[in-house]
Amino acid sequence: MYKSLLVDKNEQGYQTLLTELSDDFLTEGDVLVDVAFSTINYKDALAITGKAPVVRQFPLVPGIDFAGTVAQSAHAHFKAGDKVLLNGFGVGEKHHGGLAQKARVNGDWLIPLPAAISAEQAMVIGTAGYTAMLCVIALEKHNIKPESGDVLVTGATGGVGSWAVKILSELGYRVVASTGSMAQSDYLKSLGASEIIDRAELSQPGKPLMKERWAAAIDSVGSTTLANVCASIQYGGAVAACGLAQGMDFPATVAPFILRGVSLLGVDSVMRPLQDRIEAWERLAQMDMADYIDAIATKITLHECVAKADELLKGQITGRLLVDVNA
Ligand code: NDP
Repeated sequence: MYKSLLVDKNEQGYQTLLTELSDDFLTEGDVLVDVAFSTINYKDALAITGKAPVVRQFPLVPGIDFAGTVAQSAHAHFKAGDKVLLNGFGVGEKHHGGLAQKARVNGDWLIPLPAAISAEQAMVIGTAGYTAMLCVIALEKHNIKPESGDVLVTGATGGVGSWAVKILSELGYRVVASTGSMAQSDYLKSLGASEIIDRAELSQPGKPLMKERWAAAIDSVGSTTLANVCASIQYGGAVAACGLAQGMDFPATVAPFILRGVSLLGVDSVMRPLQDRIEAWERLAQMDMADYIDAIATKITLHECVAKADELLKGQITGRLLVDVNA
């Protein structure tokens, strides 16, 4: 038997409970992992509370991320004792996820935990930090360098946004952070933002082309904000788009793309090929952010996840929730 969070939907409604499961409950897969830590991303909070249809089969163990140690493996790349990490691939959405003491998964979805970081640190980074790094790599591949000019980050106090600010500033970029929480300016400056702008500047409909303000941007907001960001990027610049916090629509014109050669780079973390995942995680591990990681982590137990997920959706959580599944 092992401890697990479990989401169910039945005649009593949508429920998330802490329970004990038997090994029969584990998903089919060729690698069994003793989970050490998981985390609560925005998507997990939606799954746990039922505020959006993230969970696609019931009952389901939530948790899109986990890190732990291989207990049993029939997969060629892994053996018992290996430290591993998983993000996405539908885990915590349609396959049982990481908010449990055990997870059995397809070994093709696992990557080795980089030697330079612990399972605990990897889960403080989580999908939010991994996605931010994928966005940074997308901009680098587009030849955006610190000397290219300022880089805008939207949704800057969010999970992806704050990691994007931190990573870009560590890499020497001058970062402009756009936020709806101007009261968090000191926090954003502590991450390395040089300038803070009110997101209201970007959230209302603008013109097809506006003043060229930024060399590049990382956008986790979508909608009108993304349209205005594209219209404000310098000639030849790029926008890495990964989220839809404002909305899924994109009320833009082609003007920035055909008249300024701006590129819109879509970033998906869930089904990302393995090699890209390994590259992103190795880059994160090399960044020597241990002090920062420790400072932003709040360690919680499985028992606390439901209440914390609710607080996260209400915007009451600063930093990252680290779930010790064995506490
Ligand atoms: P968070 O909720 O932590 O952050 C989102 C931030 O966006 C908020 O903190 C807020 O920042 C801003 N925001 C919220 N509502 C609005 C609004 N109506 N208009 C403008 N800005 C708004 O979420 P995450 O960082 O975890 O995820 C951000 C987005 O990225 C989500 O849409 C998520 O689904 C997506 N995502 C996509 C991934 C992928 O693989 N493509 C992976 C991970 C996340 P502020 O107050 O500073 O403005």
